Amino acid sequence: CGIVGYVGSDEAGNFLLDGLRRLEYRGYDSAGVAIHCGAEFTITRSVGRIDSLAGALGDVMPSGSLGLGHTRWATHGPASMENAHPHLGGDGEVVLVHNGVIENFQVLKEGLIKKGYTFVSATDSEVIAHLVADELKHAPETNGQPNLRYLAAVRAAVAQLRGTYGLAIAFRDHPNFLIAARFGSPLVIGVGSGEYFVASDASPLVGRTERIVYLADHQLAVLTPDGFSVLHRDQGKVRVDIRPLETDS
Ligand code: GLU
Repeated sequence: CGIVGYVGSDEAGNFLLDGLRRLEYRGYDSAGVAIHCGAEFTITRSVGRIDSLAGALGDVMPSGSLGLGHTRWATHGPASMENAHPHLGGDGEVVLVHNGVIENFQVLKEGLIKKGYTFVSATDSEVIAHLVADELKHAPETNGQPNLRYLAAVRAAVAQLRGTYGLAIAFRDHPNFLIAARFGSPLVIGVGSGEYFVASDASPLVGRTERIVYLADHQLAVLTPDGFSVLHRDQGKVRVDIRPLETDS
């Protein structure tokens, strides 16, 4: 239902929690955040209000400058801790949040289980996390540019999906970039200076940046603290317009 993501040099958790509160108006049944801390993601989930997520996070927010957050409106699997996003793929090297519905998740899931992947949720979304992890095994090394390899894996994974997705994806072993992907479920990028944001609508970005990019269907974006680029899923880089953030107030 709602997505937020941050990469930069500030504390990600502040933006994530604040952004999720600003997305509450869309409705949701559970929520969660993943913040890259040390060498791992610290994942916190809760059923119910963002206040209970804030309570679960405690007084000292996990410290890290890359993270993802989600408010879930369950479509596959009940509202529960296990089904709340973010979801992990592989042995935890992939973490993602997903909006939308994957229609062919059952057949993809069966294939992944045969390959040895273990599912901990009933969601369609967890399939995408394992699919990206699986594609990473086949993605060729890209000397000195790991994000190209991860991008190739995400492209190969989303090409197999039938249905709708807004995705924000991060990687345990390379905590300096985020990948976003969109088909049928809105995503915007917030362009800061030395920091970049992703969100399912512009409301979390108010007061953070005035420059935004609306992703179009079939587009993916790679965000690092130093910049961003947008690509078409099946083609190369695309030029995008950075637009002013417009608010009603
Ligand atoms: N289909 C996903 C789920 O049930 C995502 C739902 C949403 O958009 O919040 O977890």
